Order: sequence, then structure tokens, then C-alpha cells
Amino acid sequence: MKIVEVLNQDKVTLSFEVFPPKKMDDYTKVEEAAHQIASLHPDFMSITYGAGGGTSQYTVDLARDLYQRTGTEVIAHLTCVTSTREHVSHMIQSFKQAGIENIMALRGDIPKDGKVAHDYSYAYQLIREIKEHGDFCIGGACYPEGHVECEHKKDDILHLKQKVEAGCDFLTTQMFFDNNVLYNFLYRIREAGIQVPILAGIMPITNKKQLSRSVQMSGTQVPERFKAIVDHFGDDPQAMKQAGIIYASEQIIDLIANGIKHIHVYSMNKPDVAAAIQNNLSGILK
Ligand code: FAD
Repeated sequence: MKIVEVLNQDKVTLSFEVFPPKKMDDYTKVEEAAHQIASLHPDFMSITYGAGGGTSQYTVDLARDLYQRTGTEVIAHLTCVTSTREHVSHMIQSFKQAGIENIMALRGDIPKDGKVAHDYSYAYQLIREIKEHGDFCIGGACYPEGHVECEHKKDDILHLKQKVEAGCDFLTTQMFFDNNVLYNFLYRIREAGIQVPILAGIMPITNKKQLSRSVQMSGTQVPERFKAIVDHFGDDPQAMKQAGIIYASEQIIDLIANGIKHIHVYSMNKPDVAAAIQNNLSGILK
């Protein structure tokens, strides 16, 4: 089933994200975690794409496995900036053969050494190409606080519009910790004429290190209220985990109360965190 059909049903959706292992030794562990998350019956699951080496095959393997063995609808991620056209074409064929109908089309980060493959510069080029390969439902990324490389938010929104016009069926946001940032962003993109469904990306922060790593990579602002939580509970792993789950759950409740229909949780291969969040929303997700 195409994700966009799931999103167009008149209900609040909850989806979870997993990432594939970097090496074969860890595959079984990741697969088990992904199956546990699938057993929560989310509306769908996404499987991220590690741009380097053999890890791209694990995205196909994990997505196929989840789809065929658990019946969970999946969306497989694909990045392009470090890939050749041949490799992208091979990946799209692999998704097709696995019965995967949904692809999250991303540019990918520019590697620190600057080594890119020069076949693609931006995600919209990948989106156009996926469309040429068949009838896929295509998702794209968006950045409520602006993408780190883009100096002016106005330009970022123009680029986003170009991406949607290239064939994006929906957009998933980068994590954010202040819901007002999302409400403001939604106002601006709707005004710019971007009408596709938006999935609010929520990252439950369950340890102190994870916060600094995530913020460093994404440039996401941390509100004072959340800083105080991390300052107070950060050195107590159990307390930090619980506080992080509660903070994420409260964010989601506020989003739903304000009319946001699609919640995507960056569950980071943690079934217990995914389950706790789902449990906190059990009376709300109807
Ligand atoms: P683009 O949409 O191409 O945008 C990248 C930058 O280029 C932006 O600054 C944009 O404003 C600018 N730009 C776009 N078009 C133009 C244009 N025509 N002219 C000039 N500038 C332009 N990374 C992974 O490696 N694997 C994953 O699985 C993965 N999943 C992700 C999922 C989500 C929901 C998100 C938010 C991010 C994900 N990422 C992933 C990270 C992503 O690859 C990076 O954020 C990357 O830097 C940008 O990717 P993009 O697809 O948003 O790029």
C-alpha cells in the first residue's frame, strides 16, 4: 500500500523509524528490535539509509523482511549525493523486486571529506528519477528551522516547493523540540502553496549524549524547558529516559490537539521507547 493512501485516511497516524546495522554481525539484533517495534502495529515504519558501502543493502533487507514477514507497511530511505546513477538505479530495482512501493528520497549529507559522486546535487533530482522508474509513493525531508546549509529560510522553502513539484507525495520534518516552530513553519509553507501531508518528526531524547549528537547534526534549537530537564536528569539514565519519553509524548499530545494528523517517531531501534510512547497515547490515537 502506498503511504500517501494511509495518510489520506481520516485519522491520526503514528509511524516509527528504524536504522539498519553498519555490519552483518549486528543485523540479527537490529532485525529483532525492528520486529518488536512492528508488533506495536504502527501505521507504517521507515528504514533509513546508510550511504556508505554494504549498509545500503541492509536497508533493502530490513525493509523487505519487515514488509514480507510482519505485514507492516514500509518506506525505504534512499540518498543520492554520494551515489552514481547506476547505484541509484540498482537500489530502486531492488526495492521494486522486494515489493516496496514507498521511497523516502533524500540528498544525504555531504561527507566531511567532501567526496560526492557528482551525479546528483539535490533531492529533487533523485525524486524525478524515481518517478521515471515506476509508480512509487515518494516522501521527502523538510526542516522547520531551515536546513543547516541554507542561509535564508525563504530560499529553503522555495527549494522545498521545487522538491514537492518534482513529485514528493508527503514530507517528514526534521526533529524539533518546540512545537511553535512547527506551527510557524506550517503557516509559511502552506502560504507558499505547499499542500502535501506533513509528518511531524519527533525524537524522544533518552540520554544526554544523544541530545548533543542530534543537535550538533541537525542544528535543532533546544528550548529552555527541555534544557532544564536534561540538566536536571541527564546524569541519571533511568530518570532521563523517563523524562525524555514524557517530553516527547507531551509534544505529540499538543501536536494532535492542534490539528497535526501525522506523527513520525524517530524510535532509534528502541522498542521499549516506542512502546512507552504508544502506551502514553493509547486513549488518544483513535
Ligand atoms: P535537499 O532537499 O536536496 O536540500 C539540501 C540543501 O540544498 C538545502 O539546504 C536546500 O535548501 C538546498 N537546495 C535544494 N534544492 C536546491 C536548489 N535547486 N538550488 C540550491 N539549493 C538547493 N540522511 C541519510 O544519510 N540517510 C537517511 O535515511 C536520512 N533520512 C532522513 C529523514 C528525514 C525525515 C530527514 C529530515 C533527514 C534525513 N537524512 C538522512 C538527512 C538528510 O540526508 C540531510 O539532512 C541532507 O543534508 C539533506 O537532505 P535533503 O533530502 O533534505 O536535501
